[in-house]
Amino acid sequence: EEIKDRFEEEIKKLNLTEDYEIKTVISNTGCIGPCSLGPIAIIKDDSTFYGHLKTENVERIVREHLLQGKIVEDLLTEENGEKIEDFKEIRFMKKQKRIALRNTGIIDPNKIEEYIERDGYQALKSVLNNLTPLEVIEEIKNSGLRGRGGAGFPTGMKWSFAHQAEGEQKYIICNADEGDPGAFMDRSILEGDPHSIIEAMIIAGYAIGAEQGYVYVRAEYPLAVKNLKIAIRAAENNGYLGSNIYGSDFSFNLEVRVGAGAFVCGEETALIASIEGKRGQPSTKPPYPANSGLWGKPTVINNVETLANIVPIINQGSDWFSSIGTEKSKGTKVFAVAGDVKNTGLVEVPMGTTLREIIFDIAGGIAEDKGFKAAQIGGPSGGTIPKEYLDLQIDYESVKKVGAIVGSGGLVIMDEDNSMVDVARFFLEFTEDESCGKCTPCRVGTKRMLDILEKILEGKGRRQDLDKLEKLGNTIKETSLCGLGQTAPNPVLSTLKYFREEYETLIKQAE
Ligand code: SF4
Repeated sequence: EEIKDRFEEEIKKLNLTEDYEIKTVISNTGCIGPCSLGPIAIIKDDSTFYGHLKTENVERIVREHLLQGKIVEDLLTEENGEKIEDFKEIRFMKKQKRIALRNTGIIDPNKIEEYIERDGYQALKSVLNNLTPLEVIEEIKNSGLRGRGGAGFPTGMKWSFAHQAEGEQKYIICNADEGDPGAFMDRSILEGDPHSIIEAMIIAGYAIGAEQGYVYVRAEYPLAVKNLKIAIRAAENNGYLGSNIYGSDFSFNLEVRVGAGAFVCGEETALIASIEGKRGQPSTKPPYPANSGLWGKPTVINNVETLANIVPIINQGSDWFSSIGTEKSKGTKVFAVAGDVKNTGLVEVPMGTTLREIIFDIAGGIAEDKGFKAAQIGGPSGGTIPKEYLDLQIDYESVKKVGAIVGSGGLVIMDEDNSMVDVARFFLEFTEDESCGKCTPCRVGTKRMLDILEKILEGKGRRQDLDKLEKLGNTIKETSLCGLGQTAPNPVLSTLKYFREEYETLIKQAE
């Protein structure tokens, strides 16, 4: 904010908004991704960028670059001894393919005209003018898009179940209850490009026959809630929401519901209960939400990143989308890369990109040039991938084969100095705390597993504790009611599988 204010001051001082032949506009964007280079300013006309900005640099950028057209060389970011001018040429961006993040960090989320300038609401127009709901569903099915929230269920199939379900009233819900420690991709999309989610939800509503949608956002994301509400109002004022959209007989309305931040409310049935004003606890399935969801009506719940892919699929076609990625995992995946890497931030790559490419080519390798130890993928529901699998392709199937899940896309990188027992304890402590308590295996089991881990870390572990951890973990996975409990033991089980010697060393020291 201080840097932006300083830009405004300097531009005003020189009258660049009024008198200068090129009118200078400051665009307030969402996050563009490379956290470790921030704060960033991009001069849009020539895409020169300045990273690690300080308020005292602003005057020179305005006077030399904006006024005289000279790049301020000494303020450019350096990589491998070279000054980089173009934002797209930095190591962090070069290998990325941005579909879901196409507008994030580029447009002002609070100006609908900037979204419209980049073909915004054109996909909706072509859907309403040219396609039947079944044709829309067919297009999404053909694209091969799978849910990006964790389970990877085919999106087109989910839509077709709700389309076929009997009922006058149907609903579409956007799940923006992103709660994994280390994940922030949904937040960035909502903060930086809310119209792409609104447009996708209207298209989804048309496809399944719903005229009402809800975006369920966690309360910890106040900027996302604010930008979304501004965007909904702008879409209403411009005729994209409400009655007779684009002159058709289709109507659609959208509301925001703010959750109180319980991790379990990311689970579909708990989320529905929360919107209904009940306690956010999961219930047994079936019935599935596609048949009996919100207030017992057919409901589709799609995650933010899933929806962010809908408009590009409609605009560029399912063949284009399905040509990206691997045989069974199509398109791209956004990862929130955090932990011990040089460049943290949001990375969107084609499915099938290897872990090595993400960590070393894009994120610049391990911080302080230490050795890579492991990556925790998929947050607390995911698992640990050790260095033997650095060349593993990241897609739904390959990651599952090594005992982890792609999940929502949290990717925490750990260097050689990390204790994997401690990492497992961290994630288990989170799920134990977030367990809603409805079923015994999860409520009591995660607590017992945590007790054992703490005992081992305190140097009081016993040899039989490792068998107990495995037995408990597998029982919790098999018998818990919802995804939280069914995946909670994963970080412990996968570190036991790949880093058992660390547990054994701690136990030996205790003996
Ligand atoms: Fe609640 Fe855990 Fe049971 Fe899910 S598995 S219903 S979070 S107690």
